[in-house]
Formats: sequence, structure tokens, C-alpha cells
Amino acid sequence: MRLAPSLTALTLFACAGGPTPAPSTPPPAAAAPAPVSVKPPPALDEPVGVAAARIAGPATGLTAACQEAMERTRAGIEAVKASSPPRDTVATLTAYDDALAAASDLVSQAAVARQASPDAAMRKAGEECSRQIQAQLTGISQDRALYQVLSGLDLSGQDRATRWWMERVLRDFRRAGVDRDEATRERVRVLNDELVAIGQEFDRNIREGTKTVAFAPADLAGVPDDFRKAHAPGADGTITLNTDYPDYKPFMAYARSGKAREALWRAYNTRAPANSEVLTRLLAKRHELATTLGYANWADYITEDKMIRSGKAASEFVERISAAARPRSERELSILLTRKRKDDRAATRFEAWDYSYYSNRVKAEQYRFDAKEARPYFEASRVLDGVMGVTGKLLDISYRPVQDAAVWHPEIRVYDVIGGRTFDERAGQSLGRIYLDLHPRENKFKHAAQYTVISGQSGHRLPEGALLCNFPRSGGLMEYDDVQTLFHEFGHLVHHVLGGHTRWAANSGTATEWDFVEAPSQMLEEWTRDVGVLQAFAWHVKTGKPIPTTLVRRLRAAEEFGKGIDVRQQMFYAATSLHLHDRSPKGLEPTPFVAEQQSRYGAFPVVPGSTFYTAFGHLNGYSAVYYTYMWSLVIAKDLFTAFEAAGVFDPETGSRYRRRILEPGGGKPAAELVTDFLGRPYEFAAYEAWLNRGTLPGPQRKSGPAPGPENRPAALH
Ligand SMILES: [Zn+2]
Repeated sequence: MRLAPSLTALTLFACAGGPTPAPSTPPPAAAAPAPVSVKPPPALDEPVGVAAARIAGPATGLTAACQEAMERTRAGIEAVKASSPPRDTVATLTAYDDALAAASDLVSQAAVARQASPDAAMRKAGEECSRQIQAQLTGISQDRALYQVLSGLDLSGQDRATRWWMERVLRDFRRAGVDRDEATRERVRVLNDELVAIGQEFDRNIREGTKTVAFAPADLAGVPDDFRKAHAPGADGTITLNTDYPDYKPFMAYARSGKAREALWRAYNTRAPANSEVLTRLLAKRHELATTLGYANWADYITEDKMIRSGKAASEFVERISAAARPRSERELSILLTRKRKDDRAATRFEAWDYSYYSNRVKAEQYRFDAKEARPYFEASRVLDGVMGVTGKLLDISYRPVQDAAVWHPEIRVYDVIGGRTFDERAGQSLGRIYLDLHPRENKFKHAAQYTVISGQSGHRLPEGALLCNFPRSGGLMEYDDVQTLFHEFGHLVHHVLGGHTRWAANSGTATEWDFVEAPSQMLEEWTRDVGVLQAFAWHVKTGKPIPTTLVRRLRAAEEFGKGIDVRQQMFYAATSLHLHDRSPKGLEPTPFVAEQQSRYGAFPVVPGSTFYTAFGHLNGYSAVYYTYMWSLVIAKDLFTAFEAAGVFDPETGSRYRRRILEPGGGKPAAELVTDFLGRPYEFAAYEAWLNRGTLPGPQRKSGPAPGPENRPAALH
């Protein structure tokens, strides 16, 4: 997914909580297993479309499928444990993989049901199913007899992907406490169950926390005509706006009245107030779980299996990036305050609700780029065509509409992803199915994210994935930022589909280290900056003419403005996420604590009474690891250097990218995937160049693009 509550382009990539953890010292022997060969139930080879139909309802169907999956998982695990040595490694791994795939796919489907179903009974069934299966997975991750079987397998003849998978599996057993005493394992089990339930409460409060604000028609001064037309006054003459993205983002970008923007911003940043207390419980349980397992805190526990490895390293990364962005952000803020003073001579503060509006003013006046000028080129259905065209050409795939699929809402569009000629024997065949649930509605997930529906596996199941987003409907106009978000989400989707043909379900799709997983999506955003790419789909909604080259150039120059502030705000979110989790939560009051993080890391003044974190959904899904977005961005910028050198649609580079980054799924450590593609290890240079790129207007200049390079190089190593 894309991140950041107020930034833009991040997507929700959600965390369907796969099987968990495990450790390494051999646990005491369990009762001697009966000498039976591995005879698990047959692999789950469900036809395409069945899972989505299940999410469509009724709720009783999901509940029944949930029970069936749990039984299949239980029987598979029992079969593995009942086998006797010498064990056939491949047969044992197959049974184990099949068993977990059944459970984890149902957890994913339950997540889609609870976040997107219009049926309250289905959302409830989704929550219940998630809780039950997560509990089962926790039990499996602590099963000593199972651990003993798996850790005793001879992997010497197995391939790299198999060995890397088992390395992770055995580590995760240890992370679940498999080698701890009975009382400890029981406590870990209970805590895991409680964390699932508390996390669901956090998500639910956000989903149901949309607020509305009534405005006088005059408050809409400055907004685009299409926005005004879509918001007619009610019987009492007022115009009601809500805090969902299609209202919130354009209003913050265009409404001239600072008071009106402040009113909607305050509503947006006080959503889900009950989550302050929910978060306190979440932090306490996470800390207890981590310390019970011998970690100093949750941040150390959750980063251990990421590329970054420790809470301390994550903290150093946040400090380094934050310091690198600060000089640039200070200059940008000073330019913005100067511009605000033209409207309000007494202004001494630049507020969070001023940012989107005044950065648009600076871009219009000093970079000659007005976002309103670009907006008519981004009609929603054309942008969708655009992202499909780009991913199709880059990866040699096409999208075939599916008309008769059963889905959970009539607005969802369904496509099969078809392989092109370079897919050899799979050319012309479906590689997987995607579900695009792109528009807001009541009780639906409020951000943008990609969800798994089915994890693909070679020879068994085609991958199926869904996007849950909140974009305008067909005919509506998107902000450029929304365009980037859609490209970003598609990055996850094609990773899921193209990586969904692995030998093991456990390695399918986006099963790479979490702090790498945003990189392919962030890299795909680069295609929205290319003139040729944009002109292929960004056609004016009335004239049908492609977006002019000069407008794209101005857009790109203007896009450099605000980068320092954006990075700094991202580091505020990362610091909030990390520092809530790298200490004892005893006595920690979230509201003042987050305010303190904001004064240290954020770009804007703290606003008393606002509680952005109560609707910061990542605090459930990502807990301490929001930093992953910026870490992935470092890698994304490096990956893109290959396309910068060869051309954004260079067939050889595109094919190499597909085969070496996307198709392996989680079959290798991410650092190796990157080295395979680039021919060298990843480095910071491209990110550093990006952060320092572009010119800032000098404060003395009144108009026109500013000359001269930004003179405060950031230090990144
Ligand atoms: Zn993402």
C-alpha cells in the first residue's frame, strides 16, 4: 500500500499476517510419531473466481470455508507430524506448504471481506475468520513436534528458494517461542490472539470514522468546477463535505479559505478518537509479547526479520534521512510562509492545512504549474487505461476483462492477466486474476492497498489479487498524486501476479522482506513522470488532446518543490511508528508522545487537540516499521537507474526486471534479487541524487522557474 496519511502516494499494502514465527534451538522431543508416511489431503487447487465469489457472500459461506480451511490445515500438519524418519524432504515440505496455504489464503480473503464488504454480516464473519485462523497459525508456529520434523529435514539437495524458505520458517518458529517452556508459549499464544482482536478494533474505528463538515458555498472558493458541481448545496443551503479522500484531498489543495481548510483538516485529524485508548492496549500487548520472547522491545522483535535487522538500525536510518531532508525542508517552508504572507500579512506560522494549498500556489506562480491545469488530463477511467498500458508494455502482459465474475460489489472491475510472447509456453494464457475495487463507499477501507485473494502456486492455483482504493468514479478527475498512487498499487498487483508462479506457495508473490516490498511499487511511480508515457493516456477530458509536453515539464519541475517537507513528514510518521514501539509503553500517553515526535521530526507545528495517529492505520498493519517505505524508496531509486540508462520501455531491461525481481517472489533475500538485476549491490547514490535534485525558487524571485542548483547537499551514505 501506499502510505502516509496526508502525503500521497503511498499505498496500502497489507499485511495479511502470514504464518508466524519460529526460533532455532531444538526443542525437547515430543512423543514419538507413529511410523506413517506423509499422506496429507490433496493440494487446494481451487478454480479461478471461487474465492471472490465467496467474499461476495453470503457470510455463512465464508464461515463454512473458513472452518474447512482450518480442518485442511490441521489434517495436513498432523500428516507431517505423523510421518517417520527417514523422511522424504520434498513430500514433507509439500504437505507443510499446502497446509499453510489453505489457512493463509482464507485469512487474506477474510481481510478483504472485513475491509470491503458492503454486508455487515460479512465484515463480521471476516473478522471472526481472521481471529480463528490467526489463532490456529500461532498454535502451528509453536508446535514442537512439527518444528522437530522440519528442522530435521535434509535440505542438502534442495534449490536456493527452498533453502531460503526453510531458513525463514525455522527462524519464525523460534520467534513464536517454540523453544520456550509451556507457560511462556501459552502466554505468547494468548497475546497473539489478543493482538489480532485489538488490531481489528483499531481498523474498524477508522473504517467507520468518516466525519462530515458543513460549509457555506463561499467556503468553496477556489475549488475546481467539477468538484463544485459534484457538491450541490443541501436544503439548508450548506454544502456537506466528508473526510474521505475524494472530498478531502481536492479541498485541501484548492480551497482558498484557510479557515475552511482548517475545519476539514481538524475533522480529518480527529477521526476515530476511540483509537487512542485502543492504541494504548495494542502497545502494551506488543511490548509484553516481545519481552516475553526475550527481546528488549517490540521494535527489535519486528525488525529482526527485515533487511534492516534491528530497532536501533531503523532509528539511525530515520535520523539520517530526517537530517538529510531538513535543510531543504526549511527553505521550502520559508518560501511557503512568504507566499502565505501575501494573503495574510500578519501570518507568522505555516500550518499543516496550508501545505497542499500553498505548495500549489508556489508551483503555479513560481514554476508555472497549476495542478488545476493538469487535472482535466487525468479522467479516472483513462488513468486506469494508462496504468494497464504501461504495465502491459513494460512486463509483456495484457488485461482481459471478465464480465461474469461474482464479486463483493457491482462496481468492481475484474480482469485476467494474459502473458505475452516472451512467456513462452504460457504465452496467451492467463497468469492470474485481478479485482479493482477503486471507489469509496460507506464502511469500506479508507486508504489504498493491494490485498491477496489467492496466493498463486505453479501447477496448483493462479494468483488472484485485489486493489481497495478510494479514487473518483469514471468521469471524475484525479489529482496527479492519485495517478501516482494508482501506479504504485498496480506495482504490488503485478508483483503478486507475476511472482505468483513459484514452486512453493510460501514464496509466492510479494513474500519478500517487508522493507523491500514497496520498492517495485515505488519504482513504477517513475513511469508517471515520463512525457511519452503520460501522453499515451493523459488526454484532456473535453478536447481529447494529450497532455502538452511543456505542461509535463513544468509538472516535473514543480514536483521537486516540497520534497524536503514530504520526506521530513514521512520521517515523522516513521519516527512515530518506531518510537511508540522501541520503549516500555508504561505510562506512555499517545497524544503528547506523538506531539513530541512531531516537534522533533515533523515539518508543521503541533495543533493541540488533533490526533492524526488515531486514524493512522499503519499503526496496526505496520506497527513499528513505517520506515520501510523510505528504505524501499532508496532501493526503488537505485532499481530505476537501469531504466534511466536503457529507456523506460527497453524490452531487455523490462524482461530482466520481470524475471529477476518480480517472478522469483520471495525465493531469495531481497538484496540478492537486486544484485541479480543491477549486477551490483544496492546503494544510496540514486536516492541521494534524487533528494538533492531540482531547483528551489529563490525567496527574492517573484515568478518564473528558479535558476541554480539546490545548494544544500544531503549526506547519505
Ligand atoms: Zn505500497
